[in-house]
Amino acid sequence: MQKPTTYREALHRASSLLEQNQLNPKIAEWLMLHAAQIERREWLEKLNDIISVSLLDIYISWIRRVIEGEPYQYITEVEEFYGREFHVNSAVLIPRPETELLVEHVLAYRQEVWPALQQDQQIKGVDVGTGSGVIAISLALEDPKLEMLAVDLSESALEVAQKNADRWRAQVQFLPSDLLTSLQQAQEKVDVIVSNPPYIPYRDKATLARNVVDFEPHLALFADQEGLSCYRQIVEQSRDILRRPGLIAFEIGQGQDEAVVQLIHSVYPEAICQVKEDYNRIKRMVFAIVR
Ligand code: GLN
Repeated sequence: MQKPTTYREALHRASSLLEQNQLNPKIAEWLMLHAAQIERREWLEKLNDIISVSLLDIYISWIRRVIEGEPYQYITEVEEFYGREFHVNSAVLIPRPETELLVEHVLAYRQEVWPALQQDQQIKGVDVGTGSGVIAISLALEDPKLEMLAVDLSESALEVAQKNADRWRAQVQFLPSDLLTSLQQAQEKVDVIVSNPPYIPYRDKATLARNVVDFEPHLALFADQEGLSCYRQIVEQSRDILRRPGLIAFEIGQGQDEAVVQLIHSVYPEAICQVKEDYNRIKRMVFAIVR
C-alpha cells in the first residue's frame, strides 16, 4: 500500500485483496476496528482521516497473516459464542456455531429430564475437553440449576477457559484431566456429561482445510480409532461417574452417529439415544438419556 493513506483506502485495498484470495472481505473491517481499537460508530467518522504509518504496518501484517491462512480469530483473539464474546488463542479450538446447538439442546434436555427441581437442588455437569470453556461457561450462565465442572488435558487451554469464566463471572470449576480420569480418581459423580472432543480421524489430515490443520491445535482436532477414541473412553469412564437419571451429550463428526450410538448402547443398553442435525443437516450430535 502507498502512503499516506486514509482509513477508507486501506480498508478498500484490504477487502479486495481478501476477495481475490477467496476470503470474506468483511474480515478487513473487523481487523481494522480491532487494530485501531475503535467502535464501529466512531469508525465511520474516521474513514477519511489519514491512518498512521505504524497502524497501517500492523494492519498490513494482519491482512497478510489472514491471506496466508491464519484464522482471523487468532489475530483478534476473540470469537462470539452463544451471544457472548470469548477470548481465544492458538492453544484452543475456535468455537464453532454448530456447538451452540449442543448447548441449546443440553439446556432443553436439562428441563426435560429434571423438570421439577427443588429450590436447593443442583444438577452437576462436566464439560470434557473444554478448550476455551465456551460450553461449560454458556451452560452455567444460561441455567442457574447447572453446576459445571470443566476438564481439559491442556493446561494452556485451561488458562484461556479460566480467563473466560472470570470475564463473565461464571461459576465453573476447572480441572486438569485426561478426559474423565481426574473425576474417577476423585470419585466425583455427575448428572450430565457434555463434550465436543477431538473427533477427526488422523487419515483425514491431508484433506482438511489448511487454515484448520496449520493453525488449530492438533490435540483438539484429531483422535485415534477412526476419530472415535475419545467417545469410547468417555463412555467407558462414565460408568463410575454418571448418576441416574443421567445425560450424555456429544458433538460428533460427519458419519460417526451410528458408531457413537452403538458404543453408548454397549455400556448402557437401556439408554435412549437421539441424534440431532446441525444447520447443514449433517448428523452432528448424539444425546443419551440413561435412567
Ligand atoms: N469444547 C471446546 C469447543 O467446543 C473445544 C473442543 C475441542 O477442542 N475439540 O469449542
